[in-house]
Parts: sequence; C-alpha cells; structure tokens
Amino acid sequence: MIEQYIRDVPDFPKPGILFKDITPLLQDPEGLRKSVLGLADAVDPASYDLVCGIESRGFIFGTALAHHLDKGFIPIRKPGKLPWKTASESYELEYGTDTIEIHVDAAEAGRRILMVDDLLATGGTMAAALKLVRRIGGDPVACAFVIELGFLPGREKLGDVPVHSLLTV
Ligand code: AMP
Repeated sequence: MIEQYIRDVPDFPKPGILFKDITPLLQDPEGLRKSVLGLADAVDPASYDLVCGIESRGFIFGTALAHHLDKGFIPIRKPGKLPWKTASESYELEYGTDTIEIHVDAAEAGRRILMVDDLLATGGTMAAALKLVRRIGGDPVACAFVIELGFLPGREKLGDVPVHSLLTV
C-alpha cells in the first residue's frame, strides 16, 4: 500500500486545506517504485503512445512512467514557461482563475495520450489539460492519478475519459 507514505498536512497552503504531501512517497524507494509500477498497471500501455504530465508533481510520476515504459513525455506547464508556440487554457479556482499551457506541436495528430497528475481534487486542472491535448490534435485515452480525493466530484468533470487512481481518500 502506498497510503503509509502520504503525509497529511493540515491548513496548507491555506486554512481549511488538508494537503496530501507525496514527498515521503518519493523519498522511499519502495514507495516510488510501487507508485510508478501501479500507474503502469492501471492502464494498458499498448493503449497509448505518449504520457502527458501536469506541472509540477505530474512531471515526477509522468516522466518516471514514460521512462519505465519507453514512451515519450509531454509537459503541460504554468503560463510563460514554454518557449515555443503554445495553446493555453484557463479554468476556475475557488478564488480566481489559473492557466496552463502546452506546445502546439507536442503531439502529432491522433496520438493516443495517457494523462498523469499526482492528485485529483475538483478536476479543474485535468479538465483543462484534456481540452489542451484535444486542441492540439491529441487523443487522451485515460487519466491516471496517484491520489484521488473521493469526497469531491472530480471525475465527473473529466467526461467519458476513464479515470484511474492508485489511492482514493
Ligand atoms: P484540482 O484541479 O482541484 O483537481 O486540483 C488538482 C491539482 O491541485 C493537482 O495538481 C494537485 O497537485 C493539487 N492539489 C489540489 N488539492 C490538493 C491537496 N489536498 N493536496 C495536494 N495537492 C492538491
């Protein structure tokens, strides 16, 4: 079980949020290996060509997974970080909005893409990431998370894309 490696930090980054800290999981060789292998088992690797991860914790698991399966990796980044031509998508937060970006040539048309992030909460981030991947011509086949906050309706925001999580809390 990976649950033992997740540290709950109350009131971070602001009061009322119970932050799921994955650094003990990353620090432990078995925890890191189990989470990457768990993601590899969650979705048939033959069903996708590339892994896409969302900055910044999605990069950690996404690149490790892509490397493990000998696939390429696509970063989705915060605004102003990608140097080439980008597509961008804004989404609602509790207070205000956030934006994420992808390179317009990150995937050839029709490429099948596994979407990866560390945690599914409201689903706003991943819903925006799915829009970005589709806008550049990619085909998101599934979303995979290490942790899902089961008390939030995050998966409902992701339409008919299958959602997998290693741990639901
Ligand atoms: P959301 O868009 O609400 O699904 O939020 C997902 C993004 O916010 C992920 O990239 C998470 O890393 C981060 N996040 C949201 N809530 C938490 C939490 N309780 N603990 C850790 N990370 C969180």
